[in-house]
Amino acid sequence: MKIYPIISYSADSNTYILEDEETKAVCIIDPGYTSEHLERIISVLNEMGKFPDFVINTHCHYDHIGNDEYFANKGIKIFLNELDGKAILERDDEKILARFFEMKVPKIRDLKFVDNDELMDLGKTALKILHTPGHTSGSISVYEEKTKSLFSGDLVFSGGVGRTDLPGGNFEQLRTSIAQILDLNFKTLYPGHGKTGTYENVKRIRKFI
Ligand SMILES: [Zn+2]
Repeated sequence: MKIYPIISYSADSNTYILEDEETKAVCIIDPGYTSEHLERIISVLNEMGKFPDFVINTHCHYDHIGNDEYFANKGIKIFLNELDGKAILERDDEKILARFFEMKVPKIRDLKFVDNDELMDLGKTALKILHTPGHTSGSISVYEEKTKSLFSGDLVFSGGVGRTDLPGGNFEQLRTSIAQILDLNFKTLYPGHGKTGTYENVKRIRKFI
């Protein structure tokens, strides 16, 4: 699997475009929310000559999901955990935080739910979904075994952990979820914000929380 990281310049989440090299299947993890960030995603896709087969959201916060609408309107399926997916379907802005980002609450009607331990096929690459609550109740992480990559959303960053003071956040759950991902033999951490990190970074962070 090839990974194209789009590290955010501003308040958007990072975006990761994943491509299965054998079948050329493509997916996007967290498309951000600004039009500038979307332009960057589209320009990478254009260079690849591809359009995504699906989008995965690590959780329901607007900085990660705002650009879902663009892909959903083109018939691309959006996957996330049901606990956070419900907040989007119910347009529950206490949980989505669109207004906090000075944007309108999105209207996305067609979502697909993924649960803990589920394997998603990206061509011949298996993406393992882990339910890792703490930052939000429905936060998920995505693990790819061959490249030993972990996409953590806002659970953990290369230099710290995600907030747990927002609706659905829970610090004890976050600690447990970080312990859970440390059971995986991942090498590179691809977080929702900031630069990429390593297994060692996360191990060190877990020690201090
Ligand atoms: Zn978040």
